[in-house]
Amino acid sequence: MRVVVVSGGVISGLGKGITTSSLGRLFKARGIPVTILKIDPYLNVDAGTMNPYQHGEVFVLDDGTEADLDLGNYERFLDQSLVGTHNLTTGKIYRTVIEKERRGDYLGNTVQIIPHVTGEIKRMIREVAQAAGAEVILVEVGGTVGDIESMPFLEALRELSYELGEGHMAFVHTTLVPVVGPVGEAKTKPTQHSVRELRAIGIRPNLIVARGPLPLSPDIKAKISLFCDVPPDAVISVPDQPVIYEVPLVLEAQGVGSLLSRTLGLPERTPDYTTWKEFLATYRRCDAVVEVAVVGKYTELRDAYLSHSEAFHHVQGHLGKEVRLVWYDSEDIPKNPSLLHRIERSDAVLVPGGFGARGVEGKIQAIELARTKGIPYLGVCYGFQLEAIEFARHVLGLEAATTTEVDPASPEPVVCLLEEQQGIHDLGGTMRLGAQRILLTAGSRIAQIYGKTEIWERHRHRFEINPKYLDRFQEHGLRVTGTSVDGRVEVLEVSDHPFFVGVQFHPEFLSRPETPHPLYLELVRAALGRKEVATPVASPPALA
Ligand code: GLN
Repeated sequence: MRVVVVSGGVISGLGKGITTSSLGRLFKARGIPVTILKIDPYLNVDAGTMNPYQHGEVFVLDDGTEADLDLGNYERFLDQSLVGTHNLTTGKIYRTVIEKERRGDYLGNTVQIIPHVTGEIKRMIREVAQAAGAEVILVEVGGTVGDIESMPFLEALRELSYELGEGHMAFVHTTLVPVVGPVGEAKTKPTQHSVRELRAIGIRPNLIVARGPLPLSPDIKAKISLFCDVPPDAVISVPDQPVIYEVPLVLEAQGVGSLLSRTLGLPERTPDYTTWKEFLATYRRCDAVVEVAVVGKYTELRDAYLSHSEAFHHVQGHLGKEVRLVWYDSEDIPKNPSLLHRIERSDAVLVPGGFGARGVEGKIQAIELARTKGIPYLGVCYGFQLEAIEFARHVLGLEAATTTEVDPASPEPVVCLLEEQQGIHDLGGTMRLGAQRILLTAGSRIAQIYGKTEIWERHRHRFEINPKYLDRFQEHGLRVTGTSVDGRVEVLEVSDHPFFVGVQFHPEFLSRPETPHPLYLELVRAALGRKEVATPVASPPALA
């Protein structure tokens, strides 16, 4: 087993997750079996109970784990699906240690952070690497070096490096090199301080990844090298990139792949980036722009919808059409009708998932607009449930239609609690979660989009479409074209519309740069179609 630890210094939000994912890609490009584990030093057992404003989107894995959004980055960069053990939290570790203590597993010993908590951390890391069949495991330590919360994890990793012996482990420290003052001077002091902090706990970085707005000059690299005691070629500059998928190539160009291979005693191999580079070349070569309106309630923090944005980046790298996302806070829509006029000029509309009553009416207004004006529409999870409510209200004339999530006593509960959810009080890990098999109706739009009639998609919800309304939906043109094997409604589509599809599941979690998700791809294709109709061009059209 070889381990690469990625820690962070100075501030959080440096792009440590992207750095880790990109380092993973360097090994993957060399054909070395690799996996990634994320440590989140918070006490929550998983990310499922956290508000998206705190840590961004909750990313759902195949096995139903509600994980930190970095797991999404790992899956996208490695093109590999991960399981819940790849997200280690303080909550999970302590829960296990306390369960063991209650069972009497510690045989009368005093249970302590060292060696019991650190021992559990090491055991879990080893198990994950083994279960994944990985030769290299990257371990990203969330938070910033110096935080009290991350101490047991860093101590465990230091111990692990001693146990594995020389040449089995590499430490990569990601820091910020800010550019300050009127002449734009790059400052190395914060990096020096955070490396000192790391060394104080017995960890000596092998590599320093310096983040910042600009590339590091040779003298700044030399300075970091001298003060932080790493060779100059181990000071890596990763300035901000127009798209995150450039980062593996930025690292590769500075020799990081060979350097890490050497540090870990792995034979040097030539990396293969053929499909990755094709994706980036198409991404950069855009000859048209489509505008997609995203109507949600967490629009102030883009990370809350990260997988959706990434899915559109993947489409851009496949079609060579720039996808511009315009964010609308659904709460503002009822107060400001001009927003609907603006949305009407978009080429497509997406209503992503969400929870609770806030912002629901604005989303329903945007969905009505998309349906009645022929704007391509994709509804995901809540966006799908609200599509049914909009249809019930405005086509079936059921004005009181709503979800029991908003009004538990509603006379028209078009969306209601899943039967298995009744009586559940704990919020953590109790939704309908993870990958489930879905059967699509042959000949439907959705079956065409996927090119098959059986799919697996990931879920995260508590409510579902009430089957009581399905006959009336079908009669009036809202068709059920996908169901789970146990008969739940998974897909609703309006047939006489350029593109109007809602899905109970979360397709955004399965989109990857080299294999964009077909729903996003087809939504953007439909958006291009609408654009062509709306703005005919005299000369031969640039659009395919
Ligand atoms: N709030 C809805 C439910 O629980 C939708 C969930 C979601 O969009 N992820 O069913």
